[in-house]
Amino acid sequence: MRRVYMDANATTPLLPEVFEAMRPYYTERFGNASSVHSFGQQARGAVEQARSCVATFLHCRPAEIVFTSGGTEGDNLALFGATKPGDHLITTSIEHHAVIHAAERLAQCGREVTFLPVSAEGVVDPDDVRRAIQPNTRLISVMMANNETGAIQPVEEIGAIAAETGVQFHTDAVQAAGKLPLDVAKIGCHLLSISGHKIHAPQGVGVLFVRKDTKIEPLFYGGTHERQRRAGTENLPGIVGLGKAAELARKGVEEGVPEKLAALRDRMEQEILACVGEAGAHSRHVRRVWNTTNLWFDHLEGEALVISLDLKGLAVSGGSACASGASEPSHVLTAMRIAPARAHASLRFSLSKLSTEEDVDFAIEMVPKAVAKLRELSPYYAGRLPVASVS
Ligand code: PLP
Repeated sequence: MRRVYMDANATTPLLPEVFEAMRPYYTERFGNASSVHSFGQQARGAVEQARSCVATFLHCRPAEIVFTSGGTEGDNLALFGATKPGDHLITTSIEHHAVIHAAERLAQCGREVTFLPVSAEGVVDPDDVRRAIQPNTRLISVMMANNETGAIQPVEEIGAIAAETGVQFHTDAVQAAGKLPLDVAKIGCHLLSISGHKIHAPQGVGVLFVRKDTKIEPLFYGGTHERQRRAGTENLPGIVGLGKAAELARKGVEEGVPEKLAALRDRMEQEILACVGEAGAHSRHVRRVWNTTNLWFDHLEGEALVISLDLKGLAVSGGSACASGASEPSHVLTAMRIAPARAHASLRFSLSKLSTEEDVDFAIEMVPKAVAKLRELSPYYAGRLPVASVS
């Protein structure tokens, strides 16, 4: 059976070049980067080479890169590391759970937390950020692109507000990396997190950019790794893979790959919506990352559609992958004031640079049929739309 993967916001496959770059670090070049002997020196060289690649990707200094175990750790390190009891943190109601749940925990640990609302299209208003600032505001954390809708947030405006008011700014750029140019100076952020497995590197490795002179308390205590910002033996093959993936992602963005692929997403969205009634796309009228479309198909259950498409060979996701299986509607769509029934009837399609025209044709063929079938079976829907209108 043909299988088409359209869940790149959940994870992306390793690129062959990335795998090849990593391979020797599982076998003959296995050293511990902290060891003094030649095995250690070889490992240290590879870690530092990867650090340089990631620094070029983010337009920062290598010393400002802290390797982590992924996006969740980077977000937690930023939020816990940059605030102390009595501080005020501003974030939004559409962040990934790695930020929302960390912020909720911080609220239980003596920090004051403000969760800002977003527009109906899922975008935070920088004026709301400005208005929320108090004398004890220590950190603003606003994501660069939303993982469920793809909506791009006004991070540069927020960075300017942070600079004006002397507040530190963290952005979760996990879903922006490889899709948008990342320049920490332009964004004006002190802290920025990315995750390897969203840019065709392996799962379990990531980076927190920590601007020079930004003080963070570590989450872990142990050795002096990562300039005492993150103790623990480095994940050598993962870091090498992330360095290679960052190099390839930077080239892709510079060569305009995202713009070319946006046409694929747009065609898929338009053609599916042209075939299916009582359906639409969330955040369609704002800037989105090129690869994501979140479609709603009223009168059905999104999870049932995910399963029915999977049985036909198409892998998509019902909202955030990390929230799948939960019966609550997506917190992102809820924050956009989407009614629970429509939120439950929403599906995220996310492409990667490996997606093809044929993949999109497959989705255009499968989705209208699967929607029609599920609606036919729905007692609430029966007879509302002529099923024959869907081929
Ligand atoms: N932040 C965002 C926006 C994400 O989409 C994700 C993963 O889906 C994460 C953080 C967590 O990253 P990781 O899976 O590397 O822990």
